[in-house]
Amino acid sequence: MDIEFKNIVDTLKATKSITRDQFAYLLEKDGEDNREYLFEAAREVAEQVFHKEVYLRGLIEFTNYCKNNCYYCGIRCGNANADRYRLTEEEILSCCDRGEKLGFKTFVLQGGEDPFYTDEKICSLVRKIKAAHPSCAVTLSIGEKSYDSYRKYFESGADRYLLRHETANEEHYSKLHPESMSGAERKQCLRNLKEIGFQVGCGIMVGTPFQTLDNIYEDILFMQELQPHMIGIGPFIPHKDTPFRDEPEGSVEITLRLLSILRLLFPKVLLPATTALGTADAIGREKGILAGANVMMPNLSPVKVRDKYLLYDGKICTGEEAAECNQCMRRRVEHIGFHVADTRGDHPDFVN
Ligand code: SF4
Repeated sequence: MDIEFKNIVDTLKATKSITRDQFAYLLEKDGEDNREYLFEAAREVAEQVFHKEVYLRGLIEFTNYCKNNCYYCGIRCGNANADRYRLTEEEILSCCDRGEKLGFKTFVLQGGEDPFYTDEKICSLVRKIKAAHPSCAVTLSIGEKSYDSYRKYFESGADRYLLRHETANEEHYSKLHPESMSGAERKQCLRNLKEIGFQVGCGIMVGTPFQTLDNIYEDILFMQELQPHMIGIGPFIPHKDTPFRDEPEGSVEITLRLLSILRLLFPKVLLPATTALGTADAIGREKGILAGANVMMPNLSPVKVRDKYLLYDGKICTGEEAAECNQCMRRRVEHIGFHVADTRGDHPDFVN
């Protein structure tokens, strides 16, 4: 095995820091021994913190309306081909009921930035879910909102908030989004969420158009400043009705190496093996867990809307019932020698 590669991994593990050149070396140096050494180091760290437990989150994609027009996204407002839907409050609550019966302890309410769901509606929904499922956590993933809105969600009982920052580099951000959106504002939202008290998740796609290795290193610097509780990364996968339809897919290999690097940098962070990773590679999520990830997010949305929430092409798990997804995910986790936790799966700093 390459001695320099090994030294960098050992140093990263010991110091929880990495220089730009070391980062480039870990992403680019090939060799089966090297990559396996990196994955194993990350697995060991994850095991010390999470004891081979994988946290499952029940994902409820409750609206595919969005007022934004991100160039990479299949449900962007400019996509006239998207078949739009909204779940009613009753439908969302019944997804949660089914989810708790299946053993889920976290519900992730995810949607586009849909003005139909006012703060009042979101707060009422969160309160009802928490009243019906007091031992479960609620995660919101509904985009950029004001400080005041975030505070109201938190006071209603929401525990966590996911908002991928997409890229920490302003110039890169402007190539992925229309002028009306700003990377600085997005980062400020994340800081606000953290200040309010949420467990906060940021993240990026790997291999978005125009992304450079330096951009990803800048993402790491941003994460070191933010100290998020969760980091969501997955490979970029193009959607046919977006300006990026002909762009190449992001690399599974780089995604896996990045997962490992993030685990070594942030030992306690909640790190999902994403659906995008499972879409790009049939056993991508298992590979993600074996590279240091510790979260999976099976879909709890009603089957009738599953194939409408398509942020990218070819998304997996759009035909299965929640119970099937749940079983499938548990089998996959056990197959690689891990087991599904029966706790809420909070970030270790939030566990009493
Ligand atoms: S990425 Fe999010 S904010 Fe952007 S268009 Fe898609 S759903 Fe809307």
